[in-house]
Amino acid sequence: MRRYTLYIIYSIAALFATTSTTLAVEPLAVRNGKVVEAKSGKTQALTGVSLAWHHFADQYYNADVVRTLTEDWHAEVIRAAVSVELGDGILKNPERAYKALYTVIDECIKRDCYVVVDWHCHNIRLNEAKQFFTRVATDYGDKANIIYEIFNEPEYQSWAEVKAYSEEVIETIRAIDPDNLIIVGCPHWDQDVDIVADDPIKGFDNLVYSFHFYAATHQQANMDRCDYALAKGLPLIISECGGMDHLGQGMVDIEWWGRWTNWARRNDIGWIAWSLSDKVETCSMLRHGTTTTPAEGGWEVADLKDWSLLVMATLHQEAELNNAK
Ligand code: MG
Repeated sequence: MRRYTLYIIYSIAALFATTSTTLAVEPLAVRNGKVVEAKSGKTQALTGVSLAWHHFADQYYNADVVRTLTEDWHAEVIRAAVSVELGDGILKNPERAYKALYTVIDECIKRDCYVVVDWHCHNIRLNEAKQFFTRVATDYGDKANIIYEIFNEPEYQSWAEVKAYSEEVIETIRAIDPDNLIIVGCPHWDQDVDIVADDPIKGFDNLVYSFHFYAATHQQANMDRCDYALAKGLPLIISECGGMDHLGQGMVDIEWWGRWTNWARRNDIGWIAWSLSDKVETCSMLRHGTTTTPAEGGWEVADLKDWSLLVMATLHQEAELNNAK
């Protein structure tokens, strides 16, 4: 508890610090199982924040929020979670989805921040995914900022099914964009990295596989599976994570949040914290729906929950450690 209090104090201090970092967006690549800068070969473990499903949180898909997350929180990467099947997602309302996504992409490019274009779908929607990534790769494939995430959290599909789907989508992207990173989903909510490590996709460059953790649920057994995958040379990225349980609820497990983020740093693996919305749940970073929670960013401490203060503190710590490198 004391350590948690220290985190909060640190976060509040950090919120009012005026320092800002300027990142040069280098093209990324995957070499020897790690994400690196393509030119220098230096490892690049990007850390940042995920926006929530756009169909209920696209009020936060705006330039001021991107500015706040990059300048004040020191996010190096922002993930745009494009809702596919649920509610007023891209299948029902493509115009709304592209408007939200492209607003975030354009601002990330302006601010030298990486952006994960996340097909936030739990089922295989091959044709729709190919159509979507064709459009995004055509519009932005020449920008080093873009990272494609082609399948967020497969639920019940086998690796054979996810692999076949992924190969087709990757081929589609690679016909347009030969080099940007592509994040491949792993079965069972991005948990089964060990199964994937035994049978990875061959024949394409710059693929990285996603592992998701929620620190109050996923602990040593999951870390062991990740260590197995790493030992086999599977490149990993934590494209989504939280400190609470896997439903985004309950108490934040500070100890395991620290263990996972330290593990990620030790292994040069990036992570992206879920998520920027004001839903009533532990994992949503903003307090629920009052006028003190402007969608324009620049939030006061009173607008933020313990979870977001912890994320901000950890991002600041990452930035300091990177600067000290
Ligand atoms: Mg490219």
